[in-house]
Amino acid sequence: MWRNAKIALGALIWTLATVGSTLAQNSDWTTPFPPFHIASDLYYVGTNDLASYLITTPKGNILINCELEADVPMIKASIEKLGFRFKDTKILLISHAHFDHDAGCAAIKEMTGAAYMVMDADVPVVESGGKADFQYGHSADALYRLAKVDRILHDGDEVKLGGIVLLAHLTPGHTKGCTTWTTKVTEGNKVYDVVIVGGPWVNPGYKLVNNTEYPQIAEDYERMFRVLKSLPCDIFLGAHGSYFGLQAKYAAMEQGKTNPFIDPEGYKKYVKEAEQAFHDELAKQKLAANRGH
Ligand SMILES: [Zn+2]
Repeated sequence: MWRNAKIALGALIWTLATVGSTLAQNSDWTTPFPPFHIASDLYYVGTNDLASYLITTPKGNILINCELEADVPMIKASIEKLGFRFKDTKILLISHAHFDHDAGCAAIKEMTGAAYMVMDADVPVVESGGKADFQYGHSADALYRLAKVDRILHDGDEVKLGGIVLLAHLTPGHTKGCTTWTTKVTEGNKVYDVVIVGGPWVNPGYKLVNNTEYPQIAEDYERMFRVLKSLPCDIFLGAHGSYFGLQAKYAAMEQGKTNPFIDPEGYKKYVKEAEQAFHDELAKQKLAANRGH
C-alpha cells in the first residue's frame, strides 16, 4: 500500500513535470528545505524533494546534484547559510542525467568553475542538454542547457578531494549512466557507510521489453539491484528526499533523537520495494508483449 502510494506519487510528480508549464505546480521541486548537517562533513542543501548534498573538505567542496536551473540560487543560499562559500565548490556530480538533477549544472559550473564529473553513459545526455536521453530526448520540457563534462567517470571510479573519497557505482536502468555514490564518514569514533541512491524506479512509459532505444534496459535494472543489494549502508540517502523519508527524518532529527539518517534497515527495505516494483512492471510488460503476438 505504502509502496503503491509512493509509486503513484512518483508518477504524478513526473507527469506534472513533463506536461508543459505544469512544472511550477510541483512545489516540492522548488520549495527551499532548511539546509542541515547530516553527519561529519556531509550536508543537505536541496529542496523539499530534490536532494542536493554538499561535502566539505579543506581543499574545497563537492556538490552532488544541481537540480532545476531555477533552484540554483536556493542551493547557493543554502550553502551560504551553512557558513560555506558557493565559490568553493570544486567538483560537481549528479545522481543521473534527468533535468530535475542536472539542469542547473551549466549555471553552477559558470558561477563556481567546478569540474563536472559524469558517468560515461550519461555524458552524451548531459552534453546534449537531455536530447540524447532514450526516453525524454524529444520531450521539449525535459530539455535544458547543456554542460560540458570535465571528467568522464567509469564504474568504480574514485572522486577524491581533500581527504574525501567518493565511489561512483554504475546503477543503470533509470538512465544509462545512473550513478549511486558511496563514501565513508566518521562521527565520534564510528565510521559510517553512506549510500546516495541514484534512482531505482521505472518511470511511467518506460519500455522494459523490446526497447529499441535501450535494448538492455531490463538487464541493466537487474544489474542495478544486484549492486544496491551488495552495498553496505548505514546512512541512507538518495536523489529525491522521498526515497529516504527526508521530511520525517529531518523532523525526528530536530526533536533531538539519535541521527535518523542512520537507517540500514530502511535502506534494505527500500531496495526490496523498488526491486519488487521493477519485477511487477517487467512481468506486466512481458505478458502484454506475449499477448500481442
Ligand atoms: Zn530521474
